[in-house]
Amino acid sequence: MNKIQNYINGKFENPIHGVYIDNYNPSIGEIYGQIPNSSKEDVEKAYQAAADAFPAWSNTTLDERSKILSKIANLIIEKIDVLAAAESKDNGKPISLAKAVDIPRAASNFQFFANAITQFSSEAHESVGLNAVNFTLRQPLGVVGCISPWNLPLYLFTWKIAPAIASGNCVVAKPSEITPITAYFLGEICNEAGLPKGVLNIVHGLGTTTGQAIVEHPNIKAISFTGGTKTGAHIAKVAAPMFKKLSLELGGKNPNIIFADCDYDDMLQTTVRSSFANQGQICLCGSRILVEETIYEKFKEDFIKKVSELKVGNPSENTTDIGALVSKQHLEKVKSYIDISENEGGKILFGGNKVVVSGNENGYYLQPTIIEVQDNNCRLNQEEIFGPVVTLMSFKTDEEALTLANGVKYGLSTTLWTNNLNRTMQFSKQLQTGIVWVNTWMLRDLRTPFGGAKESGVGREGGFEALRFFTEPKNVCIKYD
Ligand code: NDP
Repeated sequence: MNKIQNYINGKFENPIHGVYIDNYNPSIGEIYGQIPNSSKEDVEKAYQAAADAFPAWSNTTLDERSKILSKIANLIIEKIDVLAAAESKDNGKPISLAKAVDIPRAASNFQFFANAITQFSSEAHESVGLNAVNFTLRQPLGVVGCISPWNLPLYLFTWKIAPAIASGNCVVAKPSEITPITAYFLGEICNEAGLPKGVLNIVHGLGTTTGQAIVEHPNIKAISFTGGTKTGAHIAKVAAPMFKKLSLELGGKNPNIIFADCDYDDMLQTTVRSSFANQGQICLCGSRILVEETIYEKFKEDFIKKVSELKVGNPSENTTDIGALVSKQHLEKVKSYIDISENEGGKILFGGNKVVVSGNENGYYLQPTIIEVQDNNCRLNQEEIFGPVVTLMSFKTDEEALTLANGVKYGLSTTLWTNNLNRTMQFSKQLQTGIVWVNTWMLRDLRTPFGGAKESGVGREGGFEALRFFTEPKNVCIKYD
């Protein structure tokens, strides 16, 4: 059985109290490893290592930092087969997805910030007539905390760590306890790339103990968190009295708005992906499909046909489209929404059942599920299910589509399918959301601001926004004669 360790001060260490948690392989429903359940004392040790590393790291030249980050990126690509297999086993996602998306993106995160830090500049303001010039010093914060979820493990973990260390901070990071393996490998990669000891420290464990200890630590200056809205609210409550900087990337209930004037084939193909990629466990998935009434019946028929062709199966097989859900508990949660659908006025058009995969009978598999609903206020349309379940609803007018789209507490992303430029602009302005994709989905440019409105989060990551988050601006005003 694999037993992983914390990565502190460049070394792999057992947790101080010797307490471990089981780690499951969701595709077979069996324990296949153990991870530390790190305590407050482990977090303190990680903090100390980070604090000791900070003076030197924050004074490393940009060129040197950039080279080390690039090296980490290259090593991730070199080890893509091992990392993709590990991610697939730990999370249940198809290995093809891990290889095409998760691992390349983790490498891109490091490569992007290796470049971005060399281009990051700050403002200067000449106070004309006052004989003064102001400039903004952007200094790293010190030791920062990065906490990430299980759905895109290495992808999201590195999305936080790369900008944090690129801008000169040292990090105490915790991956989700459910998917810790690729984070463990990242420690090895950082050592191989020559990242000085203590710059990155990875502590494994439960959110409520290890995560909580990071958030509560009085000298950890900022928390970059991605996860559920409820956890985000709790973290904000703990961190606010200490005036920590917070970046919260939270849940979503994203509309996918389809107008009759769209490029239909492209829309149909992309909608299958935006609904069910990664078993629907992506915060950006379009879980509420809103379709213009004139094409509703046609769409319904075509969509069901396409979805019925998806293969649910062993994630390690290349032909699998939909792998296992991440845990038994999560499978039961997602299934419970399907079970209440009739009471909520819904009609299951396709799927709805657990799947038994031959040879992997105890794995956590679920059919991709399409539910037709009548009322946007039903729980299926209001609550984040975060699994392979989408709802369908029709609308008649632009106004109605907009009201439905905005009629939830979340506001992460929206996909809009139309070829009408005026409509595109009107919707882009009026949608209460952090991201609008027009005639596409999840097309990411890492320079763009990423984050949500309403209960989908606070703050933006990505590009210079992330470098701004991880630095403190200080105004320097120089008077001259
Ligand atoms: P959780 O909120 O349960 O957990 C996220 C991370 O926080 C995990 O590492 C977790 O540890 C940790 N955590 C839990 N409790 C605490 C605490 N009290 N203090 C500090 N850390 C804590 O989310 P999930 O892992 O279930 O991820 C799914 C959620 O993430 C969905 O809501 C999804 O929408 C959201 N998400 C948002 C994205 C965005 O960019 N907006 C992107 C991807 C996902 P542990 O695993 O041990 O509980």
